[in-house]
Amino acid sequence: MRKFEVEYGRNCPYCDERFEARRINQKFCTPRCKYTHNNRKRDKRNQVSKRVNKLIRMNYTILENLLEQQGEGRAEIPLEQLKGRGFNFTYHTHDTELKDKSKATSYYDIGLTLAGKVCTVIRLKSVA
Ligand SMILES: [Zn+2]
Repeated sequence: MRKFEVEYGRNCPYCDERFEARRINQKFCTPRCKYTHNNRKRDKRNQVSKRVNKLIRMNYTILENLLEQQGEGRAEIPLEQLKGRGFNFTYHTHDTELKDKSKATSYYDIGLTLAGKVCTVIRLKSVA
């Protein structure tokens, strides 16, 4: 094997074809492979965040509706009923420490606490 082949011969991470790089830092055999590889990587990342954002937004809508129905920036709902409305506990935006030092699982500007089998929905002070 020639020295050039050792230093510049490599496999394209996208198409897996063996090629000789023209520069030491050339990773892909063609610009097309580079763009396609990077676009797919980006699309996959976007799919994950889109799916998670959609779940969080759905939860937010459920909590918003509860606050609208019960008013005063506070609402209560039995845990099973909240699940029955399609609430998904997998993702949330952040945790908020309340005045009594307890933590609320938060969805943007709405917090959720659980005591026994009852959930309390609280409108938090503006996040922004
Ligand atoms: Zn390639």
